[in-house]
Amino acid sequence: MKTGISVSKGYAVGKAYVLDTEQPASFQTTADNPGVQADRLKRALEKSKEQIEEIAAGIRERLDSRNAEIIESHLNFLKDPAFIGEAFSKIDRESVSAEKAVDDVTQSLYDTFSGFDDDYMKERAADIQDVGTRIIRNLAGEQKEFDFRQLPAGTVLFAHDLKPSDTAQICRDNVCAIVTETGGETSHTAILAKALGIPAMVGCKEILSSVQTGTTVVVDGTAGEILVNPGTDLVNQYLTRIEQEKQQKEKVACFARKKIFTKEGRRILTFANIGGLKDLEIALENGAEGVGLFRTEFLFMDRGTMPTEEEQFRVYKEAAKRLDRKTLTIRTLDIGGDKSLPYLKMEKESNPFLGLRAIRLCLKNPEIFETQLRAILRASVYGNIRVMFPMISCMDEFQRAKSVLDSCKQQLEQKGVPFDSSIKIGMMIEIPSAALLAEKFAKQVDFFSIGTNDLIQYTLAVDRMNERISDLYNPLHPAVLRLIQMTISAALQAGIPCCMCGELASDERAIPLLLQYGLNEFSVSPGVLAEIKSVLLQSVGS
Ligand code: PEP
Ligand code: MG
Repeated sequence: MKTGISVSKGYAVGKAYVLDTEQPASFQTTADNPGVQADRLKRALEKSKEQIEEIAAGIRERLDSRNAEIIESHLNFLKDPAFIGEAFSKIDRESVSAEKAVDDVTQSLYDTFSGFDDDYMKERAADIQDVGTRIIRNLAGEQKEFDFRQLPAGTVLFAHDLKPSDTAQICRDNVCAIVTETGGETSHTAILAKALGIPAMVGCKEILSSVQTGTTVVVDGTAGEILVNPGTDLVNQYLTRIEQEKQQKEKVACFARKKIFTKEGRRILTFANIGGLKDLEIALENGAEGVGLFRTEFLFMDRGTMPTEEEQFRVYKEAAKRLDRKTLTIRTLDIGGDKSLPYLKMEKESNPFLGLRAIRLCLKNPEIFETQLRAILRASVYGNIRVMFPMISCMDEFQRAKSVLDSCKQQLEQKGVPFDSSIKIGMMIEIPSAALLAEKFAKQVDFFSIGTNDLIQYTLAVDRMNERISDLYNPLHPAVLRLIQMTISAALQAGIPCCMCGELASDERAIPLLLQYGLNEFSVSPGVLAEIKSVLLQSVGS
């Protein structure tokens, strides 16, 4: 039995396919004629651009816009002055071959990115290397794309590491599990596998020396185990588990479209948490009655530059239209803490979760904040959008955020651009100070959304990312429950909606209690919507 980090739960039994991740062949490092080398590099860049566009178009055909965007972000690297600009200068300055120039700048940027403490930044090193290898292979005329569609159904994909352009092409129809030797929780592989609902394990050291293409394997993404060449009994045990899991999913699927009312006739809404349009599709398939949390930071990640107002507007507009007047709660950028952006210079902090994160960062960077708010406002005429500020800790912060929104409204008004002038403005309750002052906040805002993931960590002083103290991360701690109850009561008293978008909203143990407190909106991961609806229906006794 082999182990690793489980990043997407579930079981799979299948045949291994070991992806060949050969390095490009060696190349000549020096060259006499810089002009010739520069021309070669220009042609290789053009070829790389065509290949990336072709891969992205294939992914878009599968309506997978999030992964298409990841790959399209590679196009930015092809014109990045710190990357390609530097390669051209090197050719000129140092009389090196185009391959050597690209290899050097790739390595230097790779080292910079992998030197960051932050896991997210480390993962961006993979994007740089992916693009660098592609260009070098094109210079040598040897770049050939692996066609993931040729994999037979029931393939367990094994790789040392999957390049972002690989992961984006993987499809649920033929790949039933993914195992890599490297990678962490925030790797492309992890994000993709979760979105597709494919069991996945990363960080499985030296696993490739234990499997060959064609070997039968079991991946237990729930227990974090891989069984290579398991006996028939084990295979049968897992096939039974897979069948049971499937039946359970089918059993609860019938609850997806049900409307929930309590005995007293209170309507309970089930919303989805999304990170992009792909998740929204899954959410709607699973009967989401709206979106309780759009984590917009995902639009800003996995790319080389800040998304423009126009790009953001297009996504928000599309989401609003697809929701067809159902609520779309757009949370403004929550960067900082464990999430950073490669193109945004941020100073190293000793306590990033207590530092310049979310609304604090936006208020310090008005240009980023205003761009996003204008995009949200412009999209608001296409559906039922409400805007939500994360990490509000005091009234002043909320008022400042609101006045930036007001000034964006004015800017649009002056230009005659339409927007919903009565757009609802809400805040996350995810810091104890906000919960304690919920009564005051409830008089100023249009809605609350309780972010238990952070509320728990800040109430109990337990880092939500630290495995070593995970036993202290107790969602049912009486202090946490007290703060939740206070928040819901304050909302009910003021007559404003209160949602919960933290993980506790999908915790079966907490649901009856939350209903009792008076919570009316539950926002959960798209994949568990039907299951949570069935728990809610049971809890209200229908
Ligand atoms: C939360 O803190 O509960 C929440 C929903 O926000 P995030 O997990 O994105 O911090
Ligand atoms: Mg949070």
